[in-house]
Amino acid sequence: MWYGVAGIVARRVCPPAEACLEKIPIENTTSENLWPTRLTMAAALSLPILAMWCEFGAGSAEAVHRFRLMVTLVTMVVFTSLVFLRQRLVDEDRLLLLRDSQESIQNLKRIQNQFVQSEKLASLGKLAAGAAHEINNPLTVILGFSDVLLSDPAMPANVKSIAQKIREQARRTKGLVGKLLSFAQPLPAERTLLDINSILSSALELRRLDLMDRSMRIELETRANLPGVRGDANQLLQVFFNIISNAVDAMEEVGGGVLTVRTWRDAMNVIIEFADTGPGIKAPSLVFDPFYTTKPTGKGTGLGLSICYGVIVEHKGQITCFNRPQGGATFRIELPAVLALFPAREANETPAGISLRLS
Ligand code: ADP
Repeated sequence: MWYGVAGIVARRVCPPAEACLEKIPIENTTSENLWPTRLTMAAALSLPILAMWCEFGAGSAEAVHRFRLMVTLVTMVVFTSLVFLRQRLVDEDRLLLLRDSQESIQNLKRIQNQFVQSEKLASLGKLAAGAAHEINNPLTVILGFSDVLLSDPAMPANVKSIAQKIREQARRTKGLVGKLLSFAQPLPAERTLLDINSILSSALELRRLDLMDRSMRIELETRANLPGVRGDANQLLQVFFNIISNAVDAMEEVGGGVLTVRTWRDAMNVIIEFADTGPGIKAPSLVFDPFYTTKPTGKGTGLGLSICYGVIVEHKGQITCFNRPQGGATFRIELPAVLALFPAREANETPAGISLRLS
């Protein structure tokens, strides 16, 4: 009877599980929830006491005595099974909670990392923009004077060749400075509605010539009727181009491979995934850091992915990367979707060297 009362009290105190978690404040629940537990404990302890009373204290007839003992034993069996069942349910509940809290901790860590990354990029962006402006002016003068030297017919050939080298190096530095400047470049105030699939095709078109005689292939798997994205087409093109170029460079290291580019919609986001069959990323946690590069001097600046990171964050999206267990690197971009569908592209619009699949 006590056990039954405990059940009824528990049900009244805490109706459905979700309501329990959401509506009742913790300080209220703890004192009220003690009642069912106390009643259950009393019920559990009373059974052996009842059995002892039957055996030593009741002094009733043999048949009554046996009947009472049997009832107590049967109750004990039922009761113990119920306690086991309850324990199992509690264990399952705890496991679920544990999994939830582990997931929350991981999310928290990820957000913390992203926050640190954004802060790092923001301060570096300011520093880089200031420095780049200062460097840009003398560079323009160097380029101008080297042009003057080169165009002067009275200059001897050896001076001209030196002037040529000065101009080349100054141009390279100007390119680098341009990249540094794009760190702090704000997005244009008016963003347009964009079709991600067509921007991707343009980025792939830009790599088309490089892919012609190589043992490399790009597979484009686009989802028909992908929602639109609001943003800056040039910046997104730069992001896609950079990731594709990195993948091509990585696959070149292992003598070729396949880059699979997929687009699809997931809840309120458009997802763009670049999965290559290259050697994988050496330090996935560092690739978005400015100036991190594993490429030889002259080829890599280490700025590409940090610029991509800044652009995607500006678009209120996310960029992540990981190595797949079967090998190769994957870069995933999530951008908030706008409820406007773009029709599927025709297969004959696809650049050569690139295969397109619609799903
Ligand atoms: P850069 O290309 O100038 O080195 P990035 O910021 O674009 O600068 O890339 C940083 C580094 O990230 C690269 O040097 C390379 O080590 C690593 N990386 C980028 N993409 C890939 C990829 N697909 N596979 C393996 N490593 C990659």
